[in-house]
Amino acid sequence: MNIPSVSGDEEAVGFYLRDYLQSLGWTVELQAVSGNQNNVIAYLNDGPRVFLSTHMDTVPPFIEASEDDEKIYGRGACDAKGIIAAQITAAEQLRKEGIEDIGLLYTVEEERASTGGKTANLHPIAAKCEYMINGEPTDNDLGIGSKGTFRLKIRTTGKAAHSAYPEEGDSAIEKLLDILEDIRRTKFPNDDFFGGTTVNIGTIEGGTALNVIPPKAEAGIAIRLTTKRQPIEDALMSLIRGRGEIEVLSCSEPVRMLAVEGFKQKVVRFTTDIPYLTKWGQPLLLGPGSILVAHTKDEFVLKKDLEEAVRLYRNLVKKLLNAENAGVEESK
Ligand SMILES: [Zn+2]
Repeated sequence: MNIPSVSGDEEAVGFYLRDYLQSLGWTVELQAVSGNQNNVIAYLNDGPRVFLSTHMDTVPPFIEASEDDEKIYGRGACDAKGIIAAQITAAEQLRKEGIEDIGLLYTVEEERASTGGKTANLHPIAAKCEYMINGEPTDNDLGIGSKGTFRLKIRTTGKAAHSAYPEEGDSAIEKLLDILEDIRRTKFPNDDFFGGTTVNIGTIEGGTALNVIPPKAEAGIAIRLTTKRQPIEDALMSLIRGRGEIEVLSCSEPVRMLAVEGFKQKVVRFTTDIPYLTKWGQPLLLGPGSILVAHTKDEFVLKKDLEEAVRLYRNLVKKLLNAENAGVEESK
């Protein structure tokens, strides 16, 4: 946790993990993602059937680690360096029990564009992987679904004019406000499994001066998808009715993960690397800590939750490796 690794700056933490895992006897590869960003891929045999995975990058700002009897505080405590620690501990315990059909994948850039996850798909070892247990803070519940994220900008244009002569201009800001008001009044779909579609108008900017009719405005919007993107995009286009333009920044659709008997299950609202890790077999999602403190200045993880996560990862791997008779079922 004390090696800063805000997205784009993961090189040092990747080197640290490589050296640490090598010292434990793992075969470790760095997979280049950009000039100074590498995924870390570690394994004990040629083609493990189960991988444990999460991301090494964090959101800014870096916050040094501290602890008391109960908790570990600081950036990455739960999102996701505590998870890395729990996964490595679980993997080492499994090894001591003679289970070596496991690998570890630690990605870069998850908190931004998931280029690490996308690049990981190019690694040939993915072909033999049947189950990918991804770690994000799920309060140690098994995430059986995650909402998608559709990020876009809406731009409006108008005509600049002296503010004392509004009839000479055309306000881009007023158009944008009308569109945003329509978005706020729109009832987006609910899905029985994934829950409600939610919309956040996250940024808004426009205009040039107080006494100028604004010629340009834009808003940045993140929609948590519970359906495919297309019906939502169609709904936006029809409510905008030519008053503005949409630029799609990124989109990941909602995903269903594997449900496993004997684990507490839930749908999570956030997006993970899972939609991008398409070559790594069936995805599962589980991790200690709460998403509600991730990305905040008060990020922490309970030590007892880390210990519980070690136990859960271990059980999950064992169950998956004996999947024929272990009651693993697809979520419906
Ligand atoms: Zn995360």
